[in-house]
Amino acid sequence: MLTYPGRIQSKLPNVGTTIFTVMSRLALEHNAINLSQGFPDFDCAKDLRDQLTKAVNSGFNQYPPMAGIPILRERIAEKMARLYSVDYDPEHEITVVPGATYGIFTAVASFIRPGDEVIMFEPTYDCYQPAVETAGGTSVFVPLEAPDYHVDWSKVQAAITPRTRMIMLNTPHNPTATVLSAEDMRVLEGLLRGTDIVVVSDEVYEHIVFDGHAHQSATRFPGLAERTLFVSSFGKTYSVTGWKMGYVCAPKELTTEFRKVHQFNAFVSNAPVQYAFAEYMKNPAPYLELAAFYQAKRDLFREGIAASRFRLMPSRGTFFQCVGYEAITDERDTDLAVRLTKERGVASIPVSVFYHQPRYDKVLRFCFAKSDDTLKRGAEILCKI
Ligand code: PMP
Ligand code: GLN
Repeated sequence: MLTYPGRIQSKLPNVGTTIFTVMSRLALEHNAINLSQGFPDFDCAKDLRDQLTKAVNSGFNQYPPMAGIPILRERIAEKMARLYSVDYDPEHEITVVPGATYGIFTAVASFIRPGDEVIMFEPTYDCYQPAVETAGGTSVFVPLEAPDYHVDWSKVQAAITPRTRMIMLNTPHNPTATVLSAEDMRVLEGLLRGTDIVVVSDEVYEHIVFDGHAHQSATRFPGLAERTLFVSSFGKTYSVTGWKMGYVCAPKELTTEFRKVHQFNAFVSNAPVQYAFAEYMKNPAPYLELAAFYQAKRDLFREGIAASRFRLMPSRGTFFQCVGYEAITDERDTDLAVRLTKERGVASIPVSVFYHQPRYDKVLRFCFAKSDDTLKRGAEILCKI
């Protein structure tokens, strides 16, 4: 061990280790069923693995182009046009990045200066605020409204000031599993008209929207698309969170600024993984079938705990299920999540950590991106609590 002799002035004084790392580690230590961190416990498609092996063995092992290999960007452009009726020029408007987290961080670094304000909804996915603070910006929190976590747009309007530079969207939403509607998007479009506010739209769960509803991407709405950096993740779509790759689509003016930072940050994304996705994406079936796949898992998990004392909240998208536990205990969710992991063998995520000042609403988040057997075993335990 070495000791730094100087004085550290942390840029992130209130940040510790992420809750996902903490809970997954605890689950491992106690051999608990891990329904905490959001990642599949099953393997990705064999065909995709084969494509990666093929790419490596074909010699695609050196730096690819800074923005991503052209064929992959073309496939992404085709997909965005097919799904959301929006035209992105692969040359100037699509950038392949090493994961959505990176895309979000780089987008913030590209546009936020000290003194700039960034509006985000609470509970907030955990990487937004640190990205803003690292850039010297100020996070402005707008609460999602109980009991269904909807947006009160009058509160967004009230939060907009001359210093507002960016608004972060996340639909489907982690951790609450809510989705924004077309009406939400139209209201936002109206609010932002005539401003210089940029939207970062985190849509990593774009293919996991349930009950027959269409995903309302910000890119479907021309007044939003023209000011949006759309962020998606191959990790979620193809069950390869460990491959860390995503993409950012944005108008040329925004992409130009984004790439200025990207080229000095990661510079490029993993070459063979890009070739593998480019081949695998030719067939749209895997992402078109994803919602039904996860809906069956959602329903299995919900049925499994329907008889428990947990209160099931709606899960309209993502692979998360939130539950209220007010009928069970007065404990804080942070304490309960740890206790359930250690004593009962099921790990979850306490939702209070997604607030800038903890709000103990007695809500836990469970991830159902797990094998049916894991979900059944987890539900059995939860029914005994
Ligand atoms: N945004 C949200 C809302 C997420 O849930 C996640 C991931 N789990 C990410 C971004 C990050 O995705 P990636 O692993 O591609 O960085
Ligand atoms: N996004 C995943 C979740 O919400 C985890 C990703 C991470 O560990 N950073 O659980």
